[in-house]
Amino acid sequence: MNVVLVGAECAPWSKTGGLGDVMGALPKALARRGHRTMAVVPRYSNYEEGWETGVRVRMRVMGSDTEVGYFHGYIDGVDYVFVDHACFQGRQGDIYGGDRQSILFRCALLCKAALEAPWHVPCGGAPYGDENLVFIANDWHTALLPVYLQAHYRDYNKMTFARSVLVIHNMAHQGRGPLAEVAGLEIPEHYTHLFQLYDPIGGEHMNIFKAGLIAAHRLVAVSHGYAWECQTAEGGWGLDGVLREHAWKLRGIVNGMDYAEWSPQSDPHLRSDGYSNYGPDDIAAGKARCKAALQRELGLPEDPNVPLLGFIGRLDYQKGVDLIRDNFDWLMHEGAQLVLLGSGRDDLENSLREMEASRHQQCRGWVGFNVRLAHRITAGCDMLLMPSRFEPCGLNQLYAMAYGTVPIVHAVGGLRDTVHPYNPYENTGTGWTFDWADAGSFRDAMGNAIYTYREFRDSFRAVQLRGMRQDLSWDHAAELYEQVRL
Ligand code: ADP
Repeated sequence: MNVVLVGAECAPWSKTGGLGDVMGALPKALARRGHRTMAVVPRYSNYEEGWETGVRVRMRVMGSDTEVGYFHGYIDGVDYVFVDHACFQGRQGDIYGGDRQSILFRCALLCKAALEAPWHVPCGGAPYGDENLVFIANDWHTALLPVYLQAHYRDYNKMTFARSVLVIHNMAHQGRGPLAEVAGLEIPEHYTHLFQLYDPIGGEHMNIFKAGLIAAHRLVAVSHGYAWECQTAEGGWGLDGVLREHAWKLRGIVNGMDYAEWSPQSDPHLRSDGYSNYGPDDIAAGKARCKAALQRELGLPEDPNVPLLGFIGRLDYQKGVDLIRDNFDWLMHEGAQLVLLGSGRDDLENSLREMEASRHQQCRGWVGFNVRLAHRITAGCDMLLMPSRFEPCGLNQLYAMAYGTVPIVHAVGGLRDTVHPYNPYENTGTGWTFDWADAGSFRDAMGNAIYTYREFRDSFRAVQLRGMRQDLSWDHAAELYEQVRL
């Protein structure tokens, strides 16, 4: 196949969350399986890996004629194509920011530029063309792509061999707006109904995700659990009916993880400041060194036996940070240490600061986005907390397990798919799970994990090792993507 993945973010160049990681890793895994693979992403900054191709394409975007350029880098078998346009420049730290019109403009432009890329960008040889061509779009920001593919190409007998897949990473964001805005998107009138949605949340409105879900040839949700949940009233955010209607073309594929970025054996962030690389064979010494180094780096008392719990993630209602806050006094009373890293909602950022201020000897709340610290917390903690209210896939629990850090998760979406609850009778499982997103259920799970850590260290170690020894790589997921038959 010729595969073109399109996304608003792509690690290591741009990332705000899991989508960036997926865009960074899935193309490489598909390329390893022998597919010619291109990843089309915005050029938010002057990335040194991307070279000016000299290709410029004129296009009409939201009523204005404009020109895009393409930069290209061939890395790990993948053609990374960076779309160059003034609307992306300077947005490196604010990918989704700006007013509605400028966000829509960037989304429309990226989709149009991606549809033209296989024709114009030489990619070190001949352009891809449309033979066996599959576009993989991601979330609402690129949901216009399947619509444009149909309306601007296939309806004119162009790209008749090309197909589109839309991957659902998060249903909570849908590109909603006033219905009148559809007129600005260069959509033929007979397709405007695709964008029209009435629901109690938004009333009658324009919904870009809805149009993409209908127009795409196939849909993928980032876990089996999420494929089911987004068809329910709780998980569909108003689009559950649309998804139920199109369930025939929807399947769940759990994200993999990129061991090149996240492996305790080779992680470059563990090579200094007292941290060290480790694997399953030297987990005891390796994790002890990383735990001590983390405690030292953050100025917490160095104690090998205190249960050290971590949280990394966007500070958002979705991530259940408030459930950690609700259990804070209990955790402190238990004598645990708690390290939180995140950025997002102001009130939750303040919660982190308040928790740290109130228990400076036991808690650190690091507000910001810091990849190195994320790696170090993942390595140094004994347990990682993910009390997400919903979690389409979640990557931090995968990283945690690979690092021998035991995840404690709300059994929902991808967390339920990937973390198997510890069963002391059969000595199975890779973490602790709880079924209700409330403070009490979460507390019980943390209590059990801490109890096992303190009283049954061998059992705890076995949970860690089972997590570490799993194959969580993208290779399997890439094979499943390949099977999304069109
Ligand atoms: P989501 O995509 O919903 O944000 P995921 O668990 O799928 O959640 O992916 C989150 C990714 O973003 C992980 O790679 C995680 O380490 C990273 N991340 C989130 N917040 C931070 C932060 N404050 N600093 C560094 N990395 C972060």
